[in-house]
Amino acid sequence: NWFNIISFAEEITEEMQLMTKENQHIIYEHTGITADVYLDPNLLRNCIINLISNAVKYSGADTLIQFNTRLMDNQLILEVKDNGIGIPQTDQKNLFEPFFRAHNTGDIPGTGLGLNIVNRYVNLMGGTVNCVSEQNNGTTFTLSFNQPA
Ligand code: ATP
Ligand code: MG
Repeated sequence: NWFNIISFAEEITEEMQLMTKENQHIIYEHTGITADVYLDPNLLRNCIINLISNAVKYSGADTLIQFNTRLMDNQLILEVKDNGIGIPQTDQKNLFEPFFRAHNTGDIPGTGLGLNIVNRYVNLMGGTVNCVSEQNNGTTFTLSFNQPA
């Protein structure tokens, strides 16, 4: 399926803004030349919703969540960045295992399946997922996909 990544991402941003906590704001920005991408929109939507839900859940009030998409040459890059609780270094290697939860989640509820699903869907679409995080500082998840020329 070819679809417009900008309107697609704007729609998800609006939807997810309704799920935020007090004074959390989701900012969407796009850079790139063209707007059409070739991916499964339902799988991709599920991935983005999982990543933004995590950003909302693992951040406090009064915070920004940045969602960026970048389409350059034959690559689509999507990024979800928060200033939340972060992920301890020692937990980062296990993030995509089913039922895994980091040690700093306290009483924040969750099953530990979201990122396993994201990882599977991204793999199905031939992409990669990456995480950069610092405890007590914030987390960035990046998805990359090669696009047909
Ligand atoms: P659910 O299955 O409902 O998504 P979950 O959010 O606990 O439950 P995942 O989304 O798979 O599970 O995330 C796994 C773990 O990774 C989380 O429990 C949390 O410890 C950590 N994590 C994921 N995203 C973030 C984030 N943005 N900030 C801080 N920790 C995160
Ligand atoms: Mg989750």
